[in-house]
Amino acid sequence: MADEGIFYDKDADLAALDGKTVAILGYGSQGHAHALNLRDSGVDVVVGLRENSESRREAESEGLTVLDVADAASRGDVVMVLLPDERQAEIWSAEIADGIADGNLLMFAHGFSIRFGQIEAPAGVDIGMVAPKGPGHLVRRQYVEGRGVPCLMAVEQDATGNARELVLAYASAIGGGRAGIIETNFSDEAETDLFGEQAVLCGGATELVQAGFETLVEAGYDPRLAYFECLHELKLIVDLMYEKGIQGMRHSISNTAEYGDMTRGSKVIGPESRAAMKEILADIQSGDFAKEWIAENQAGGENFDRMRKEGADHQIEKVGGGLRSMMPWIETEF
Ligand code: NAD
Ligand code: MG
Repeated sequence: MADEGIFYDKDADLAALDGKTVAILGYGSQGHAHALNLRDSGVDVVVGLRENSESRREAESEGLTVLDVADAASRGDVVMVLLPDERQAEIWSAEIADGIADGNLLMFAHGFSIRFGQIEAPAGVDIGMVAPKGPGHLVRRQYVEGRGVPCLMAVEQDATGNARELVLAYASAIGGGRAGIIETNFSDEAETDLFGEQAVLCGGATELVQAGFETLVEAGYDPRLAYFECLHELKLIVDLMYEKGIQGMRHSISNTAEYGDMTRGSKVIGPESRAAMKEILADIQSGDFAKEWIAENQAGGENFDRMRKEGADHQIEKVGGGLRSMMPWIETEF
């Protein structure tokens, strides 16, 4: 299974991109990494940015050609949309769609806009995806070091008959073929990505940490101890799982911790939490989550801003800020 449908550099033909211009729209986390890796792989790249974008100078200092979004979209034979997912639909109608001709390849790094009907491309256009399974700075750093970050690839629409070959070449050119490129489809990528970030990685983990912290503080324990036990040490456990899996992590912790893990974890994530996970997945699959998120943005993002502020005001942030300043070795990794 692990090796099923995985492609490497030897399976890709970079010559498929010869004579083609790749337009990278956006120069954020993914955009800068794709643009620079493609360029260093010998691909002809232009970057599309807003006129007043602060990233312009940064991209130009790398020697990249920077154009307005509309100009880049029309210049590109391959157009990779690396703009915020929630803005893609409006930028598509206003600045991208006119520049996409039949036979062009329209690409994404996340299935959101296509899976949830935010963007509908003409039938004569190829639609593909290359989604690195890591943040852009890792995608760039690994490439420079001669390695790569595994990528997902997918073809949603193959009007020319060449879409797969081109998508694979693109994935290889940003370094994905050094690690492995796994083929999937837009729906599976979009749905699992949203589920992971909502139920486990972001939503699940932050709520778990805050609930544990609050439980100890409400019971009268020192918030600094609560911070260490419920947030700080999470990294040690996650690092072990990341390197060796759950069993490898359990091998490294004490027998007492392992017994507590195996007998108490399912009390925290019990039937109610599992039912909630199914509900979250159903909301994603039905498109209800996407609809809600797009509506929130169209309404000006008031709830989003309020929840951000509430999160920033939580006691754990103040306690953590103080403790992290005592640990100068903690630096942001990316
Ligand atoms: P980002 O927020 O880091 O960058 C977005 C870029 O778009 C910035 O350069 C910003 O200036 C530009 N932009 C914003 N509004 C614009 C507008 N109106 N006109 C022109 N440019 C505009 O985004 P990101 O994290 O790189 O995400 C891009 C895509 O990659 C998304 O589809 C995301 O789901 C996907 N993705 C991200 C990651 C990740 O780890 N960050 C991983 C895999 C896939
Ligand atoms: Mg994601």
